[in-house]
Amino acid sequence: MEEEHQSIPGQSIFSLAGKLALITGGGSGIGFDIARCMVQAGATVVITGRREQPLQEATDTLGNRAHYMVNDVTERALLDGLVEQIETTYGPIDILVNNAGINMKKPALEVTDEDFDRIVHTNLNSVFSLTRACARRMMARQQGSIIMISSMAAYYGIDRVAAYAASKSGVEGMVKVLASEFSGNGVRVNAIAPGFIETAMSKTAMGGDPDRFARAMRRTPMGKFGQPDDIGWAAVFMASDAAKYITGVSLPVDGGNSIGF
Ligand code: NDP
Repeated sequence: MEEEHQSIPGQSIFSLAGKLALITGGGSGIGFDIARCMVQAGATVVITGRREQPLQEATDTLGNRAHYMVNDVTERALLDGLVEQIETTYGPIDILVNNAGINMKKPALEVTDEDFDRIVHTNLNSVFSLTRACARRMMARQQGSIIMISSMAAYYGIDRVAAYAASKSGVEGMVKVLASEFSGNGVRVNAIAPGFIETAMSKTAMGGDPDRFARAMRRTPMGKFGQPDDIGWAAVFMASDAAKYITGVSLPVDGGNSIGF
């Protein structure tokens, strides 16, 4: 028998009321807005990051359904413990958003092995470890939604981001495998692939160079940067019952970059 969304008067199918979301890198940028949109949709959120101050400020802004834990996702041996601690303190994690990520723009021949390893370690290896830690518990409970924040850099040859593109392409490949392996146990796995979104990361990548900005906008049919909440609302949709039959996909949120020319 098909499981249907139980419609509750006054409650939208997009509601995340009663759900707990873990969002990595939630103290700033896209991660903060994912947390903000999820709180607005009714969820309780736990945000993580390496620095305490932005996390503290973010939770102060988001109110009493937002909590933080200082955690570096590259400390992979600590991730099982993080998940355990969150579930003991706040309850079962229903939604995992792997958002924390780093980038570095350098011509490929100048990228050192250390640079390459650092980026892949943060954006791909850690994502696998945290996903495994959460998925074990979600699968035992027969429900959960895992969202990877990927990038359009996984699809297009954007100059000077070899390691970043490799890491995000790895995430995209992993999504399909995990979605296939986990779907029998009620856990969905999807990606969101942002285009140019206005955050500290994209400002650094543009380097204040108006020519670079103009080139980026020429490749963007909507002709403007996206805002972090454009990713936030897409994440709310992906986590909600409205997306209950969606798994293994990557949703571009990019002002039309993915249309191609
Ligand atoms: P920001 O640099 O603005 O924010 C990144 C966040 O991740 C920060 O809160 C940072 O907090 C956290 N973080 C970084 N490294 C770690 C770590 N090792 N452990 C825990 N937290 C960490 O980036 P954006 O908001 O722009 O990017 C968010 C995601 O979106 C990334 O995965 C990025 O690749 C992706 N993306 C962004 C695009 C854009 O145009 N902005 C385009 C496509 C994809 P702290 O420093 O305290 O650890």
